Amino acid sequence: MTHPLHEKYSRQMLFAGIGPGGQEHLRASRAVVVGCGAIGAATANLLVRAGVGHLRILDRDFVEASNLQRQTLFEEADAREALPKAIAAERKLRAINSDVTVEGIVGDLNAGNAEELLAGYTLILDGTDNFETRFLMNDYSVKSQTPWIYAAAVSSYGLTMAIRPGKTPCLACLLESSRRVGLEETCDTVGVLGPIVNLIASLQTAEALKLLAGCESTLHERLLSCDVWSGRMQSVAPERHSNCRACVRRDFSYLEGQVQPHITLCGRDSVQIHERNRSLDLQALLQRLSSTLSDVRQNGFLLRFRADNCEVTVFGDGRAVVKGTKDPAVARALYAKYIGA
Ligand SMILES: [Zn+2]
Repeated sequence: MTHPLHEKYSRQMLFAGIGPGGQEHLRASRAVVVGCGAIGAATANLLVRAGVGHLRILDRDFVEASNLQRQTLFEEADAREALPKAIAAERKLRAINSDVTVEGIVGDLNAGNAEELLAGYTLILDGTDNFETRFLMNDYSVKSQTPWIYAAAVSSYGLTMAIRPGKTPCLACLLESSRRVGLEETCDTVGVLGPIVNLIASLQTAEALKLLAGCESTLHERLLSCDVWSGRMQSVAPERHSNCRACVRRDFSYLEGQVQPHITLCGRDSVQIHERNRSLDLQALLQRLSSTLSDVRQNGFLLRFRADNCEVTVFGDGRAVVKGTKDPAVARALYAKYIGA
Protein backbone atom coordinates (compact mmCIF):
# COMPACT_ATOMS: atom_id res chain seq x y z
CA MET A 1 0.00 0.00 0.00
CA THR A 2 1.47 3.37 -1.01
CA HIS A 3 2.16 6.06 1.58
CA PRO A 4 -0.93 8.32 1.14
CA LEU A 5 -3.20 5.28 1.40
CA HIS A 6 -1.30 4.15 4.43
CA GLU A 7 -2.02 7.50 6.05
CA LYS A 8 -5.67 7.57 5.01
CA TYR A 9 -6.44 4.23 6.66
CA SER A 10 -3.86 4.42 9.46
CA ARG A 11 -6.35 4.45 12.35
CA GLN A 12 -8.26 1.52 10.93
CA MET A 13 -5.09 -0.48 10.31
CA LEU A 14 -3.91 0.23 13.85
CA PHE A 15 -7.02 -1.57 15.06
CA ALA A 16 -5.79 -5.11 15.74
CA GLY A 17 -8.92 -6.77 14.30
CA ILE A 18 -8.18 -5.35 10.83
CA GLY A 19 -4.48 -4.49 10.54
CA PRO A 20 -2.65 -3.93 7.22
CA GLY A 21 -3.66 -7.40 5.96
CA GLY A 22 -7.34 -6.71 6.57
CA GLN A 23 -7.04 -3.36 4.82
CA GLU A 24 -5.63 -5.05 1.71
CA HIS A 25 -8.53 -7.49 1.80
CA LEU A 26 -11.00 -4.59 2.02
CA ARG A 27 -9.38 -2.87 -0.93
CA ALA A 28 -9.82 -6.00 -3.04
CA SER A 29 -13.47 -6.48 -2.05
CA ARG A 30 -16.68 -5.68 -3.92
CA ALA A 31 -19.92 -4.84 -2.12
CA VAL A 32 -23.38 -3.89 -3.31
CA VAL A 33 -25.87 -1.82 -1.32
CA VAL A 34 -29.47 -2.44 -2.38
CA GLY A 35 -31.56 0.65 -1.63
CA CYS A 36 -30.02 3.99 -0.72
CA GLY A 37 -32.39 5.49 1.83
CA ALA A 38 -31.23 6.17 5.37
CA ILE A 39 -29.66 2.79 6.19
CA GLY A 40 -28.24 2.37 2.69
CA ALA A 41 -26.73 5.85 2.57
CA ALA A 42 -25.12 5.55 6.01
CA THR A 43 -23.79 2.08 5.18
CA ALA A 44 -22.38 3.24 1.84
CA ASN A 45 -20.76 6.24 3.53
CA LEU A 46 -19.00 4.08 6.14
CA LEU A 47 -17.88 1.45 3.60
CA VAL A 48 -16.44 4.03 1.21
CA ARG A 49 -14.58 5.80 4.02
CA ALA A 50 -13.25 2.44 5.22
CA GLY A 51 -11.73 1.79 1.78
CA VAL A 52 -13.78 -0.99 0.25
CA GLY A 53 -12.54 -1.59 -3.32
CA HIS A 54 -15.74 -1.35 -5.33
CA LEU A 55 -19.19 -0.30 -4.21
CA ARG A 56 -22.35 -0.56 -6.30
CA ILE A 57 -25.40 1.36 -5.12
CA LEU A 58 -28.75 0.40 -6.46
CA ASP A 59 -31.78 2.62 -5.85
CA ARG A 60 -35.05 3.32 -7.65
CA ASP A 61 -35.99 6.54 -5.88
CA PHE A 62 -35.15 10.26 -5.97
CA VAL A 63 -34.20 12.64 -3.15
CA GLU A 64 -37.05 14.48 -1.41
CA ALA A 65 -37.02 17.08 1.39
CA SER A 66 -38.52 14.56 3.83
CA ASN A 67 -35.40 12.36 3.44
CA LEU A 68 -32.88 14.90 4.70
CA GLN A 69 -33.59 14.46 8.44
CA ARG A 70 -31.94 11.01 8.37
CA GLN A 71 -30.39 10.24 4.97
CA THR A 72 -26.90 11.54 5.61
CA LEU A 73 -25.49 11.56 2.07
CA PHE A 74 -28.02 14.03 0.66
CA GLU A 75 -28.42 17.80 0.70
CA GLU A 76 -31.16 20.36 0.04
CA ALA A 77 -29.88 20.92 -3.50
CA ASP A 78 -30.30 17.19 -4.27
CA ALA A 79 -33.96 17.41 -3.19
CA ARG A 80 -34.54 20.64 -5.15
CA GLU A 81 -33.15 19.00 -8.29
CA ALA A 82 -34.97 15.70 -7.52
CA LEU A 83 -31.75 13.80 -8.21
CA PRO A 84 -32.01 10.02 -8.20
CA LYS A 85 -30.54 8.79 -4.91
CA ALA A 86 -28.09 6.47 -6.68
CA ILE A 87 -26.67 9.43 -8.63
CA ALA A 88 -26.54 11.86 -5.67
CA ALA A 89 -24.89 9.16 -3.54
CA GLU A 90 -22.36 8.27 -6.25
CA ARG A 91 -21.31 11.94 -6.60
CA LYS A 92 -20.95 12.48 -2.87
CA LEU A 93 -19.11 9.21 -2.24
CA ARG A 94 -16.60 9.82 -5.04
CA ALA A 95 -15.76 13.16 -3.44
CA ILE A 96 -15.35 11.47 -0.05
CA ASN A 97 -12.91 8.80 -1.21
CA SER A 98 -11.53 8.75 -4.75
CA ASP A 99 -9.74 5.43 -4.14
CA VAL A 100 -13.05 3.58 -4.20
CA THR A 101 -14.83 2.69 -7.43
CA VAL A 102 -18.39 3.85 -6.78
CA GLU A 103 -21.14 2.94 -9.21
CA GLY A 104 -24.70 4.22 -8.79
CA ILE A 105 -27.47 2.44 -10.68
CA VAL A 106 -30.96 3.95 -10.96
CA GLY A 107 -33.29 1.00 -11.01
CA ASP A 108 -35.49 -1.43 -9.22
CA LEU A 109 -34.15 -4.81 -8.07
CA ASN A 110 -36.57 -7.50 -9.21
CA ALA A 111 -36.69 -11.17 -10.13
CA GLY A 112 -35.85 -10.32 -13.72
CA ASN A 113 -32.57 -8.51 -13.03
CA ALA A 114 -31.40 -9.68 -9.58
CA GLU A 115 -28.98 -12.33 -10.81
CA GLU A 116 -27.41 -9.87 -13.24
CA LEU A 117 -27.16 -6.91 -10.82
CA LEU A 118 -25.90 -8.88 -7.80
CA ALA A 119 -23.45 -11.27 -9.52
CA GLY A 120 -19.76 -10.91 -8.73
CA TYR A 121 -20.07 -9.19 -5.36
CA THR A 122 -18.47 -10.41 -2.14
CA LEU A 123 -21.31 -9.10 -0.01
CA ILE A 124 -24.84 -7.70 -0.39
CA LEU A 125 -26.08 -5.09 2.06
CA ASP A 126 -29.65 -4.23 2.92
CA GLY A 127 -30.79 -0.66 2.41
CA THR A 128 -34.29 -1.60 1.26
CA ASP A 129 -37.63 -0.68 2.78
CA ASN A 130 -39.71 -3.77 1.97
CA PHE A 131 -39.78 -7.51 2.56
CA GLU A 132 -40.43 -8.43 -1.06
CA THR A 133 -36.98 -7.18 -2.02
CA ARG A 134 -35.35 -8.66 1.08
CA PHE A 135 -36.70 -12.13 0.32
CA LEU A 136 -35.47 -11.72 -3.25
CA MET A 137 -31.98 -10.84 -1.93
CA ASN A 138 -32.18 -13.79 0.49
CA ASP A 139 -33.14 -16.19 -2.32
CA TYR A 140 -30.23 -14.95 -4.43
CA SER A 141 -27.87 -15.18 -1.46
CA VAL A 142 -28.81 -18.76 -0.55
CA LYS A 143 -28.81 -19.91 -4.17
CA SER A 144 -25.45 -18.32 -5.02
CA GLN A 145 -23.85 -18.83 -1.57
CA THR A 146 -23.21 -15.08 -1.27
CA PRO A 147 -23.43 -13.57 2.22
CA TRP A 148 -25.80 -10.68 2.83
CA ILE A 149 -26.72 -8.52 5.81
CA TYR A 150 -30.32 -7.89 6.81
CA ALA A 151 -30.97 -4.44 8.28
CA ALA A 152 -34.28 -2.70 8.98
CA ALA A 153 -35.52 0.20 11.06
CA VAL A 154 -38.78 2.02 11.68
CA SER A 155 -39.88 4.48 14.35
CA SER A 156 -37.18 4.25 17.08
CA TYR A 157 -36.57 0.50 16.61
CA GLY A 158 -34.37 -1.54 14.32
CA LEU A 159 -32.65 -4.87 13.81
CA THR A 160 -29.85 -6.44 11.83
CA MET A 161 -28.17 -9.77 11.22
CA ALA A 162 -25.44 -11.03 8.90
CA ILE A 163 -26.66 -14.03 6.92
CA ARG A 164 -24.12 -16.52 5.58
CA PRO A 165 -25.67 -19.37 3.61
CA GLY A 166 -24.82 -22.75 5.08
CA LYS A 167 -23.45 -21.22 8.27
CA THR A 168 -26.28 -19.14 9.76
CA PRO A 169 -30.07 -19.15 9.52
CA CYS A 170 -31.38 -17.23 6.51
CA LEU A 171 -34.07 -14.54 6.44
CA ALA A 172 -36.76 -17.10 5.60
CA CYS A 173 -35.70 -19.12 8.71
CA LEU A 174 -36.29 -15.99 10.79
CA LEU A 175 -39.42 -14.58 9.19
CA GLU A 176 -41.36 -17.35 7.54
CA SER A 177 -41.61 -19.43 10.74
CA SER A 178 -44.19 -18.69 13.44
CA ARG A 179 -41.78 -16.46 15.36
CA ARG A 180 -41.94 -13.27 13.37
CA VAL A 181 -39.23 -10.75 14.13
CA GLY A 182 -39.68 -8.45 11.16
CA LEU A 183 -41.12 -4.97 11.08
CA GLU A 184 -44.68 -4.60 9.87
CA GLU A 185 -45.05 -0.84 10.06
CA THR A 186 -43.37 1.50 7.61
CA CYS A 187 -41.53 4.81 7.91
CA ASP A 188 -44.40 6.37 5.96
CA THR A 189 -46.99 5.44 8.59
CA VAL A 190 -45.22 5.72 11.95
CA GLY A 191 -42.14 7.78 11.06
CA VAL A 192 -38.48 7.05 11.82
CA LEU A 193 -35.69 8.67 13.82
CA GLY A 194 -32.25 9.51 12.42
CA PRO A 195 -30.38 7.86 15.32
CA ILE A 196 -31.91 4.40 14.85
CA VAL A 197 -31.22 4.15 11.11
CA ASN A 198 -27.65 5.33 11.58
CA LEU A 199 -27.15 2.94 14.52
CA ILE A 200 -28.45 -0.04 12.53
CA ALA A 201 -26.29 0.99 9.55
CA SER A 202 -23.26 1.10 11.87
CA LEU A 203 -23.98 -2.36 13.26
CA GLN A 204 -24.49 -3.68 9.72
CA THR A 205 -21.23 -2.09 8.53
CA ALA A 206 -19.22 -3.52 11.44
CA GLU A 207 -20.22 -7.04 10.35
CA ALA A 208 -19.52 -6.06 6.73
CA LEU A 209 -16.00 -4.94 7.63
CA LYS A 210 -15.27 -8.30 9.26
CA LEU A 211 -16.48 -10.15 6.18
CA LEU A 212 -14.74 -7.91 3.66
CA ALA A 213 -11.48 -7.71 5.61
CA GLY A 214 -11.24 -11.49 5.72
CA CYS A 215 -12.04 -11.87 9.43
CA GLU A 216 -15.08 -14.14 9.06
CA SER A 217 -14.35 -16.00 12.29
CA THR A 218 -15.11 -12.83 14.26
CA LEU A 219 -18.71 -12.46 12.98
CA HIS A 220 -21.01 -12.71 15.98
CA GLU A 221 -23.84 -14.52 14.12
CA ARG A 222 -26.49 -12.86 16.26
CA LEU A 223 -29.68 -10.97 15.52
CA LEU A 224 -29.29 -7.58 17.18
CA SER A 225 -32.27 -5.37 17.92
CA CYS A 226 -32.26 -1.92 19.47
CA ASP A 227 -34.75 0.77 20.48
CA VAL A 228 -33.07 4.14 20.89
CA TRP A 229 -36.14 5.64 22.65
CA SER A 230 -36.65 3.00 25.37
CA GLY A 231 -32.99 2.00 25.56
CA ARG A 232 -33.80 -1.68 25.08
CA MET A 233 -31.12 -3.70 23.29
CA GLN A 234 -31.29 -7.41 22.55
CA SER A 235 -28.89 -9.94 21.07
CA VAL A 236 -30.17 -13.42 20.26
CA ALA A 237 -28.74 -16.40 18.37
CA PRO A 238 -31.57 -17.54 16.07
CA GLU A 239 -31.76 -21.14 14.93
CA ARG A 240 -32.14 -22.49 11.44
CA HIS A 241 -35.65 -23.55 10.62
CA SER A 242 -35.67 -27.32 9.99
CA ASN A 243 -38.01 -27.00 7.03
CA CYS A 244 -36.99 -23.57 5.74
CA ARG A 245 -38.38 -22.78 2.28
CA ALA A 246 -35.16 -21.18 1.09
CA CYS A 247 -32.12 -22.75 2.77
CA VAL A 248 -33.53 -26.26 3.35
CA ARG A 249 -36.09 -26.87 0.60
CA ARG A 250 -34.25 -24.58 -1.83
CA ASP A 251 -37.50 -23.11 -3.10
CA PHE A 252 -36.44 -19.72 -4.46
CA SER A 253 -39.91 -18.47 -5.28
CA TYR A 254 -39.01 -14.77 -5.00
CA LEU A 255 -36.05 -15.14 -7.37
CA GLU A 256 -37.65 -17.53 -9.80
CA GLY A 257 -41.24 -16.43 -9.33
CA GLN A 258 -43.44 -14.48 -11.60
CA VAL A 259 -42.26 -11.12 -12.78
CA GLN A 260 -42.99 -8.21 -10.53
CA PRO A 261 -46.54 -6.89 -10.49
CA HIS A 262 -47.08 -4.19 -13.05
CA ILE A 263 -48.25 -1.69 -10.47
CA THR A 264 -47.39 -1.50 -6.77
CA LEU A 265 -48.38 0.82 -3.97
CA CYS A 266 -45.35 2.42 -2.41
CA GLY A 267 -46.62 4.01 0.79
CA ARG A 268 -46.81 7.80 1.17
CA ASP A 269 -49.84 8.14 -1.06
CA SER A 270 -48.01 6.91 -4.17
CA VAL A 271 -48.34 4.27 -6.85
CA GLN A 272 -45.38 2.92 -8.80
CA ILE A 273 -45.80 1.72 -12.35
CA HIS A 274 -43.15 -0.74 -13.51
CA GLU A 275 -42.60 -0.74 -17.22
CA ARG A 276 -40.29 -3.37 -18.61
CA ASN A 277 -37.97 -3.15 -21.56
CA ARG A 278 -39.13 0.32 -22.34
CA SER A 279 -36.65 3.08 -22.83
CA LEU A 280 -38.02 6.62 -22.83
CA ASP A 281 -36.47 9.67 -24.48
CA LEU A 282 -36.99 12.13 -21.61
CA GLN A 283 -36.01 15.14 -23.73
CA ALA A 284 -38.60 14.31 -26.38
CA LEU A 285 -41.19 13.69 -23.67
CA LEU A 286 -40.33 17.07 -22.13
CA GLN A 287 -41.00 18.83 -25.43
CA ARG A 288 -44.23 16.97 -26.04
CA LEU A 289 -45.64 17.55 -22.53
CA SER A 290 -44.54 21.19 -22.39
CA SER A 291 -47.05 22.01 -25.10
CA THR A 292 -49.98 20.97 -22.90
CA LEU A 293 -48.74 21.23 -19.29
CA SER A 294 -47.25 24.29 -17.63
CA ASP A 295 -44.86 22.76 -15.09
CA VAL A 296 -42.72 20.02 -16.66
CA ARG A 297 -39.14 19.56 -15.47
CA GLN A 298 -36.37 17.25 -16.59
CA ASN A 299 -32.93 16.82 -14.96
CA GLY A 300 -31.25 14.28 -17.22
CA PHE A 301 -32.29 11.34 -15.05
CA LEU A 302 -36.00 11.82 -14.61
CA LEU A 303 -38.88 13.99 -15.73
CA ARG A 304 -41.57 15.36 -13.47
CA PHE A 305 -44.91 16.99 -14.13
CA ARG A 306 -48.15 17.80 -12.35
CA ALA A 307 -51.47 16.80 -13.79
CA ASP A 308 -54.94 16.12 -12.38
CA ASN A 309 -53.79 16.89 -8.80
CA CYS A 310 -51.02 14.29 -8.98
CA GLU A 311 -47.27 14.60 -9.35
CA VAL A 312 -45.84 12.15 -11.87
CA THR A 313 -42.12 11.28 -11.90
CA VAL A 314 -40.93 9.31 -14.93
CA PHE A 315 -37.57 7.55 -15.21
CA GLY A 316 -35.60 6.75 -18.37
CA ASP A 317 -36.39 3.04 -18.04
CA GLY A 318 -40.12 3.77 -18.33
CA ARG A 319 -40.85 3.42 -14.62
CA ALA A 320 -43.08 6.08 -13.05
CA VAL A 321 -44.09 7.10 -9.53
CA VAL A 322 -47.47 8.80 -9.29
CA LYS A 323 -47.80 10.76 -6.06
CA GLY A 324 -51.16 11.98 -4.82
CA THR A 325 -53.23 8.84 -5.31
CA LYS A 326 -53.53 5.37 -3.85
CA ASP A 327 -55.66 4.19 -6.75
CA PRO A 328 -53.72 2.12 -9.34
CA ALA A 329 -56.41 2.87 -11.93
CA VAL A 330 -55.90 6.63 -11.59
CA ALA A 331 -52.14 6.19 -11.89
CA ARG A 332 -52.45 3.92 -14.90
CA ALA A 333 -54.82 6.38 -16.60
CA LEU A 334 -52.38 9.26 -16.06
CA TYR A 335 -49.53 7.17 -17.42
CA ALA A 336 -51.50 6.23 -20.51
CA LYS A 337 -52.67 9.81 -21.09
CA TYR A 338 -49.34 11.61 -20.78
CA ILE A 339 -46.61 9.04 -21.38
CA GLY A 340 -48.34 6.49 -23.55
CA ALA A 341 -50.04 3.16 -23.00
ZN1 LIG B 1 -33.45 -20.61 5.94
